[in-house]
Formats: sequence, C-alpha cells, structure tokens
Amino acid sequence: MVNSKIQAGEENLLHVYNRFPIALDHGEGMYVYDTDGKEYLDFAAGFAVTGLGYNHKEFNETLKEQIDKIYHISNLYYHENCGDAARALNQASGMDRVFFTNSGSEANEGALKSARRYAYTKQTGRYEFIAMENSFHGRSFGSVSVTGHDSYREPFEPVVPGVHFAKFNDLESVKALVNDKTCAIILEPLQGEGGINLATQEFMEGIRQICDENDVLMICDEIQCGMGRTGTMFAWQGFGVKPDIITMAKAIGNGIPVGAFAMTKKVAEYSLKPGDHGATYGGNPLACTAVKKVLEIFEKERILDHINKVSPYLTKRMDELVAKWDCIVQRKGKGLMQGLQFSIPVSEINKKTVEEGLLLIQAEGNVIRFVPPLILEEKHIDEMIEKLERVLTDSD
Ligand SMILES: *Cc1c(COP(=O)(O)O)cnc(C)c1O
Repeated sequence: MVNSKIQAGEENLLHVYNRFPIALDHGEGMYVYDTDGKEYLDFAAGFAVTGLGYNHKEFNETLKEQIDKIYHISNLYYHENCGDAARALNQASGMDRVFFTNSGSEANEGALKSARRYAYTKQTGRYEFIAMENSFHGRSFGSVSVTGHDSYREPFEPVVPGVHFAKFNDLESVKALVNDKTCAIILEPLQGEGGINLATQEFMEGIRQICDENDVLMICDEIQCGMGRTGTMFAWQGFGVKPDIITMAKAIGNGIPVGAFAMTKKVAEYSLKPGDHGATYGGNPLACTAVKKVLEIFEKERILDHINKVSPYLTKRMDELVAKWDCIVQRKGKGLMQGLQFSIPVSEINKKTVEEGLLLIQAEGNVIRFVPPLILEEKHIDEMIEKLERVLTDSD
C-alpha cells in the first residue's frame, strides 16, 4: 500500500518522524486525497489544526488576496489585520494583550519568559515552574523543559532548570511543590499528547486558588484544546477558571503557521517591555489575516454552536464502541477532542485505519485520538465508526 509519490526526496529529510507511506495532494472539507486519488476521511486535522476543514473557499480567497497585497512587513510597522486579529483573539480568549508567534512551542517560550519577567519586575525572586506529568508543551528548550515525559527531555539535558512536575489532577502533589521560588504553574486544561486527559473542575479551581494566594501565575496551554474544540472558545471557559496567561496555536490559523501567547492587563503591566521579546515573522500580515478570518468564520458559520450540536453524537457512537469491543477500555475527553483507550497496541490499528482511508492519531497510554475538523457532520461520524469497526473486525 505504498502510493507512488512518496520516494521523492525522502532520504534527504532528517528522519525524526515515522510517516505513513502516503503522499497527500489536496483536500476538500472533511477529506484529503493522495497523489493516486485515494480518499481519506480526516479525523486528525493535521494535529487539530485545520478546524475549518480543507479548501474553505472564503478562507482561501482571503489569503490569496492578502498575498497579492503584502504578506511581510516586520514588526516595525502596524498592519490593520494584525490589530483586528489581536482584538478578535483577545475577545475570544478573555485576555487583554496578545503577542503573535510562529508556533505553539514559541508561544510557550513567550509565556514562560513573560512569567519570569513579571517576577523580575516585581523583584519577587521567583523563577521556578510547576508543570504536569504527561504534559506536552513543545520541542524548543523552554517548552520541552516543562514537558512531562522524561524521554522528551533526557537526550537534551541539562534543560531549563527550576522545573518541577506534579501529578495531573492531584492538587496535593501541586501544593507539595509550591514555595517562595514558584513563578508559574503551566498546564493543559485537556491534555492532548499525554492521552486525552481532562482536568477536573476541582483541579482547575485549586490551581487558581494556589496561584492567587502566592502571587504565582497560572498559564493554560490551549494550543490543542482551544478554538472551540471542547465546546467553548477556549477550554478554561468551560471551567469558569480564568488563567493569567494563555498559549494558542494550531487551529487559530487553520494551517497557516501562527501561534500566540496572551495575558491579562494585570500581568502585562509588570511583564515584557519593548526590547524584551520579538519574532521576525511573528504576526505578519498573512498570519494575522488567517487568524482574523478564522475568527470571522467562527462567528458567521456559528462553528461553536455546530460543535455543541454534533459532539454529543460523537460521544454516543464512541460509547457504543466501548460497550461493544473488549479491546476498548474507555472513552476520554470532551467535545471534538476525544480518545479511545485500547488494551491492545494502537500503532497497528492506526496503520490499518489509514489503509482503510481514515486518518487518526495516537496519543500516550494506548489511546487513539479523534480531533476532526470542527465542521464535521453526523454522517462523517458514521463513516468513521464504520471504517474503524472494519479494522477492529479484521484485527480480532
Ligand atoms: C502541538 C502542541 C504544542 C506545540 O506546538 P508546535 O506548533 O508544534 O510548536 C504545545 N502544546 C500543546 C498542548 C500542543 O498540542
């Protein structure tokens, strides 16, 4: 099952990814097509990125027009779409000041630096971070330093010092690590790579309380779980627990490389100042046009309402799978960010679903992750279940 175009230049790429043996050519809505024309139903969205699906006409046209006008100017100048994107993103995320980056890792770098800068201005002497086991925050030095998997950090040690790991959803383990050096606590309200683990209400509230009592900043990494995926624009809103700093990326640009970190006014007042931080490409007119347009389309097409309408059906169909198949242990997650935990190795299943024309992604702990474009309909869920069950029947 090797499609014809995959050899092109393959050995020239640094081998850091285990790719599936297909070369994709184009996409339409919920589907992508390989160079032989074979169709794949996409429940991966390029790692929860292409929320609007593929070939969204209005989105594409807007980007094409922007490319013909101007797409890079540097951050020495203003561009109208950047102000518009910043305003719309702050409105959606509940934050007050935003900085645009090129990726999620870079957004987390900025968030960590912002927290250190806040402590520096206030001369609190605080510099340590508390992060969670099983977390994923990226591959750059700062972001990998707060990533709660030993295997991601060990080959690169020494990483950024002063990071301690608590158990996710175990408030006592967090409290045990807080001291007068603690600068910030970083967590994903819904862990993605770590196996689709949803924070409890009590955990989110407890973290907020610890932060308030100790002048510690709460950083929510909403790079994967943000932008509507859990049924609210950002996952924190589902808990009603507002962080001090949020990091975003993935779906905010629908595939145009853009990320952001944003903070409340209260934090910004003491945090990064001119000259403290920057990014040559960060928030260029093309990236900002993408963010602005994605948020406009969210409103216009009532994407959030759609997510809340369609996700109970996904939950229902997945619960049926759990009841029916002995090899499925449980369903995890929320909204359109869900996982199935298996008792058998998932890499084989994942390989076979791709052959069957269904794209899925694995997560830690024998979990298969379902993060489809947010525009999916019930018929796509039925088609996904059908394809997955065909694979499970053959594997039995
Ligand atoms: C993907 C992801 C990142 C890293 O984003 P990149 O754009 O790959 O650097 C960070 N945090 C979370 C929660 C993610 O899912």
